[in-house]
Amino acid sequence: MARISEQIIEQIRSTADIIEVVSGYVQLKKRGRNYFGLCPFHGEKTASFSVSPERQIYKCFGCSVGGGVINFIMEIEGMEFVNAVKHLADQYSIELQIDETAGKSKDLITQLFDIHAQTAHTFLKNLGTEEGSKVLAHLESRGLTRDTIKKFKLGYSLKQKDALLSAFRTEGVRSDAMKQSGLFIDTKSGYMDRFRGRIMFSISNSAGKIAAFAGRVFESDDPAKYINSPETPIYNKSKILYGLHETKQIIRNSKSVIVVEGYLDFLQLYQSGIHNIVAVSGTAFTDQHALQIKRFCEKVHLAYDGDSAGKAAAIRAGYVLLRAGLSPLIVNIPDGLDPDDWVKRDGNTPFLEAVENSTKLLTFHFQNYKGDISTTSGKTAFVNDVLMEIVQIKDPVSRELQGRELSELVGVSAESIFQSLHNMLEKLKRRQNFQQNNKSPKPKTEDKKQLLENDLIRLCFAEDIAIRKFLFDEVKTEWLMTVLSQKIYEKVYIHLHSSNAPEASLIMDELKNETYRNKLAELVFDLEKLTPSLKSAEDCVRRLEQNWLNIHIQSIREELKNAESSGNDPLPLMK
Ligand SMILES: [Zn+2]
Repeated sequence: MARISEQIIEQIRSTADIIEVVSGYVQLKKRGRNYFGLCPFHGEKTASFSVSPERQIYKCFGCSVGGGVINFIMEIEGMEFVNAVKHLADQYSIELQIDETAGKSKDLITQLFDIHAQTAHTFLKNLGTEEGSKVLAHLESRGLTRDTIKKFKLGYSLKQKDALLSAFRTEGVRSDAMKQSGLFIDTKSGYMDRFRGRIMFSISNSAGKIAAFAGRVFESDDPAKYINSPETPIYNKSKILYGLHETKQIIRNSKSVIVVEGYLDFLQLYQSGIHNIVAVSGTAFTDQHALQIKRFCEKVHLAYDGDSAGKAAAIRAGYVLLRAGLSPLIVNIPDGLDPDDWVKRDGNTPFLEAVENSTKLLTFHFQNYKGDISTTSGKTAFVNDVLMEIVQIKDPVSRELQGRELSELVGVSAESIFQSLHNMLEKLKRRQNFQQNNKSPKPKTEDKKQLLENDLIRLCFAEDIAIRKFLFDEVKTEWLMTVLSQKIYEKVYIHLHSSNAPEASLIMDELKNETYRNKLAELVFDLEKLTPSLKSAEDCVRRLEQNWLNIHIQSIREELKNAESSGNDPLPLMK
């Protein structure tokens, strides 16, 4: 992997102000010494995401993520460390000198991205072969231009069962990375290409790197219309939205997004000049998709196929969006058409009009309900179905608004609706309480030890160098009982002797493990509430040592007991 010098990283860390960087994604408001906003990493309606300008770190008190400015970019843009650094350097016009040759063996992730980039190139090139020319003609007959094909890296996988495999073998790509790429399948007669004789779509992550492929059947009676890459270390299909890397800025600017079901819908719309779009790729719409969208806008138009399956899927996706606190609207697509056919046939004007006149989720659900809503029992069933969804909305205000809408829609008094909702919520709460009570409680002494170790770590950040030097001289790592504390302490320890207090954001970057990082963010976020003194440090160290001694003595006693009962001579242990 490419290396960036420590000085450059330091320069970026001191130039890129975390408040400024986070503000590009989250609306922040100042409260006391810190800034607060809605967490971009989990769905919420009250601001529990907090940024500290003093420590240059962020911390969410809802989902407990935390880190420094580089971690933030890594998380929100889905980037690796080096790319996050490049991204920030770009923004702040800091010149980078990256040594691409340092560290000869590339890590697995980099290799996987390389393999995917190369494969996309091969698939695109295949369109120029005799076998692929029919596919190119087909794509063009569907109205796709060569520019679109190139920009979104469409292509063709040859029918030959090891066309891709043999290309990589001659290049000597490490077989471990090839196995994990998901591009090959293991058969009795050895490995072969997963995608054969298919129209290929490249699926990029939000940073624009190709992470997977989807292959559409072409002139074959293969019953599988689409074959997709499996989940790999670089591909999580419930997270990735097709095209988002190209359209995210436009989505943010236009404050709304159109979600379509298929790659071809996306491409046709994009080409027609509609750019605030994404497609769900080869899976149902998930909570994580909703969170991805929430990073950029709140208003979501679902433009699914006009048949009954499409309508049902749009309704399901709508409720997922509603749960995440977004406002879903459903576009009425003429029966039997999908956005791709429609825009190809009539241009984008009628489609855009339909987007303008989208129907609210609950109304659309009511209009397309399978049961007979003219009967009392049909209406009751509808109300219950919708209540089951509304009850899952966490935000009480949004829950009430949906309740009112339902009441107006079906002509049932708001009072009855809220009564039913209340009953359901109570039931849900009882179930959750029951589940919580059945979790095994943590032993109390464990908690005390952890608290003590938390104190130690906080003390390491004391401004007073006398406190830090004291810790440096007195604390022994083996006194720490939890791996969590040990790992964090190991990183902080080396900074204890320097003249300035350790910088939390710097240590965050060094902690590669997310759990450790989140824990550290939690510990140091409100550091100013603490007034550390040498006395409290001495007290903490004494108790840590005492705890360790107690455990040590306890284990010696056990050994003695075991030795006595087995008749061995206990004396050697007593020295
Ligand atoms: Zn959060």
